Amino acid sequence: MLSATVLQTECLPGIVLAHKHSSAHRQELMASGICGCFYCLKIFEPTKVNEWTDYPPGTPEGQELVLGTTALCPCCGIDSVIGDRSGFPITGQFLAQMKQRWFGSSK
Ligand SMILES: [Zn+2]
Repeated sequence: MLSATVLQTECLPGIVLAHKHSSAHRQELMASGICGCFYCLKIFEPTKVNEWTDYPPGTPEGQELVLGTTALCPCCGIDSVIGDRSGFPITGQFLAQMKQRWFGSSK
């Protein structure tokens, strides 16, 4: 009986890695063909994103949206957007797995 077996089924390493692609990802996202939000599970084109956060310290007032590096979802406003350039499949199933891992089930 190996505890590693239990860890493997719980851990979903891809899901953990994918989360790193949901912030400071502006260039990656804009290079993506499609992206999705793992909070509201909507799939949309990167050009639909018009709000950005995580701008560098010292960003002049009014430049936050220009210099922000993390997309906010155009549907729900949560910073949980990931693009296909991350190497992960932007599908409803994948986004649902991400949601379950990072936001818990909807129970
Ligand atoms: Zn959303």
